Amino acid sequence: MQDFTERPCWFEGRFVPLKEANVNIRTHALQYGTACFGGMRAYFNSEKNNLYLIRLEDHHARLRASSRILQMQWSMPFEEFRQITIELLRRGNWRENCYLRPIIYKSELSLSPRLHNVTDSFAMYAIPLDDYLDTRRGLRAMISSWVRLSDNQIPARAKATGGYINSALAKSEAMQSGFDEAIFLDVRGMVCEGSAENIFIVRDGKLITPGTASSILEGITRRTVLTMARDLGIETIERDISRTELYAADEVFFTGTGAQIAWVESIDHRPIGNGSIGPITEKLQKTFFAYVRGELPQYQHWLTPVY
Ligand code: PMP
Repeated sequence: MQDFTERPCWFEGRFVPLKEANVNIRTHALQYGTACFGGMRAYFNSEKNNLYLIRLEDHHARLRASSRILQMQWSMPFEEFRQITIELLRRGNWRENCYLRPIIYKSELSLSPRLHNVTDSFAMYAIPLDDYLDTRRGLRAMISSWVRLSDNQIPARAKATGGYINSALAKSEAMQSGFDEAIFLDVRGMVCEGSAENIFIVRDGKLITPGTASSILEGITRRTVLTMARDLGIETIERDISRTELYAADEVFFTGTGAQIAWVESIDHRPIGNGSIGPITEKLQKTFFAYVRGELPQYQHWLTPVY
């Protein structure tokens, strides 16, 4: 396979090989973390010989909301965003599962940690990606000693690069302590999300996840899973979850564009349920993987075929 860094990315208003898309060390976003980004996936279906982008319009809308929070000028209409994304994949002849990273970054070479009146630029690149977290086995998670940033500190909703220091602290603490993933509590001590995933629990057959005012990223996979669960006749509830409710849950899983649907086997050394994948998680995971490969007509409207 051709080195993917030789394939085109979108940078400074045109397509250039990814390995040539470099920024100056003085770039505002590099100095102060003043960028916001998206994480999108495209899945390859070899039988249909097509690549499917997942919920492109929702990713565009979230990126736009993030850019507003960070006082950016970005006003790219969805149609242009769609064309650039498709063109990027076609020019690179992508025919494998991949992850796309659109990013708006304060590109000015200036010296003040502010948001207003700083020029921003848009770029997008793709990398090959299968599993980000292992979805075939159960994950061992821990409650992080790091507290999730609150909406009045660095809003998780903005998907700002600077905010990911919070995620990195928690992820490294978890992995260096022998766990796979971290679970954040918010400033109130309520369950929030993983380092780069939303979290769901199942209790008494009901699917529960923290609400969007709980310092979480408004996950697009989270929304997908809530819809799929309702379509499967599972009751869904968005509400606060306390720490020990996790330990008492029948099932726990993470969702995310990278994470997909990844089930949790234990939290803080306490096995969840009976230690294997739970029936509701399994059902949702199966539905999810069929949908992203373009096999479910009822969710076809969430997919953008590339070829
Ligand atoms: N929370 C955080 C902190 C994340 O970084 C991500 C990944 N984008 C998610 C949740 C999941 O969001 P989505 O389903 O839109 O990928």
